[in-house]
Amino acid sequence: MTPTATRTDSAYDVVLIGGGVMSATMGALLKLLQPDWSIGLFGRLDDVATESSNAWNNAGTGHAALCELNYTPERADGSIDISKAIDVNEAFQVSRQFWAHLVESGVIASPRDFLNPIPHMSFVWGADNCDFLRRRHDALKDHPLFAGMRFSTDPAQLRQWMPLVMEGRGAGTPLAATWSAAGTDVNFGALTHLLIGFLSRQAGFDLKLAHAVEDLRRDASGLWRIAVRDLAGGRDLSVAARFVFIGAGGGALPLLQKTGIPEAKGIAGFPVSGQFLRCTNPELAARHHAKVYGKASVGAPPMSVPHLDTRVIEGRTGLLFGPYAGFSTKFLKQGSLWDLPKSIRMDNLGAMLAVARDNMPLTRYLIGQILQSNTARLAALRDFVPTARAEDWDLIVAGQRVQVIKSDAKRGGVLQFGTEIVTGAQGSVAALLGASPGASTAVPIMLTIIARCFPVEMARWTPRLKTMIPSFGAKVAGDAALCAHVRDWTMRVLELEG
Ligand SMILES: Cc1cc2nc3c(=O)[nH]c(=O)nc-3n(C[C@H](O)[C@H](O)[C@H](O)COP(=O)(O)OP(=O)(O)OC[C@H]3O[C@@H](n4cnc5c(N)ncnc54)[C@H](O)[C@@H]3O)c2cc1C
Repeated sequence: MTPTATRTDSAYDVVLIGGGVMSATMGALLKLLQPDWSIGLFGRLDDVATESSNAWNNAGTGHAALCELNYTPERADGSIDISKAIDVNEAFQVSRQFWAHLVESGVIASPRDFLNPIPHMSFVWGADNCDFLRRRHDALKDHPLFAGMRFSTDPAQLRQWMPLVMEGRGAGTPLAATWSAAGTDVNFGALTHLLIGFLSRQAGFDLKLAHAVEDLRRDASGLWRIAVRDLAGGRDLSVAARFVFIGAGGGALPLLQKTGIPEAKGIAGFPVSGQFLRCTNPELAARHHAKVYGKASVGAPPMSVPHLDTRVIEGRTGLLFGPYAGFSTKFLKQGSLWDLPKSIRMDNLGAMLAVARDNMPLTRYLIGQILQSNTARLAALRDFVPTARAEDWDLIVAGQRVQVIKSDAKRGGVLQFGTEIVTGAQGSVAALLGASPGASTAVPIMLTIIARCFPVEMARWTPRLKTMIPSFGAKVAGDAALCAHVRDWTMRVLELEG
């Protein structure tokens, strides 16, 4: 199906493709900044937040680098580089401020509808790892964004912080952990529903579910012509828009390729699927109250760091352990096995082959994960919960991540684990690719896109943005007073700790 220039069923200022947390955040920001703009949101499934943003399809960690060791690499001289950790925390402070604004202004009734304070911990064993964690703590503890982070090797203290993790653990192996009360568990699915619920109450917003975008082209007048298939069997639509945001998660790459913009050339995707072990036994869940992140094994990609998480979903507390990585050629959990083969083009084939050549440890790691038995999965869980019994845990399939592969002049192609924003056609289209740090940074990512695509409107929107996000245009990390204000205000409104 191709978009027809002759028929236009509806025309919008903005079309959002995808019903996940990214489109929802983009829609809410734009509606608050420019209430008179019309917005159409098209999602291919029957409900919003059914792919990666669904609560059980991701780990719900409010990524702030309080517990994730991959954000603080060790330099060759043994010192700890905390620059990435500061950036990730800074980005999360931006999301926290927007969410606090939504609560304060009544858009979201209660922060508990999507957010809970859960301590974030890093946990390691073995003398070298304990030493690394001590040095990491030393490097972070005096920074205002990491204030209050504690470190201990004392088994009694560790038992108090994570009783389930310490239960049945033999003596003799050195253990160490850091603990931060400022951690959060975020139900990104609930947040998506809340944001799209807000949008649905506004004039000029259309929600079209079970509608898949199949093609998009820019016409001579600069308008995007979008072909939409009605999956419920109704009439297919031809839609026009001045600005298109491709927030289709794993489905973003194929749509970006269809735009024909030069910025999309050379980009490919590498899907990595995930599984978690989930425990909904209330007795066990009551004995763990933290998100405990370990160290990645050799060759493992950063997003596969094992962690044991308290989750609070729809008022019920459960536990999640994983992720176990896997491989599928689908770009979406409910996608097609043809997604990967159909994304291969002449312009990205070289980059894909170069990545295959240069990433043998990752390939070996993924094969090992795919071949892993239930017994091996339970053994990995027992590193964290030594007393774990198979009958308390069930294996669930998480969301699909599509890591970005980009052409590289020196190496032919590189595999990226971060998020990639692609904009083009004079800022009339933007797409979000990649995964990490993910939904936690939805607000700063959308603000970056807005700044790139709406430079003229931005001057007018800036005062409004500063009322929503007091640190907008500044860095909290370099301004102690602003940092204290932002932390205190968001902690009070979002009922957090730290
Ligand atoms: C295993 C795992 C663990 C994670 N853990 C965390 C975490 O702890 N913390 C964190 O911050 N982030 C985490 N993430 C990342 C986070 O889940 C994602 O960054 C985020 O949910 C992406 O949101 P999205 O809106 O871009 O995509 P999605 O939520 O995947 O939504 C994409 C939407 O686009 C729709 N769509 C696709 N193609 C089309 C089309 N052609 N037409 C119309 N609609 C279309 C889909 O149906 C869906 O509604 C994790 C991800 C995974 C997979």
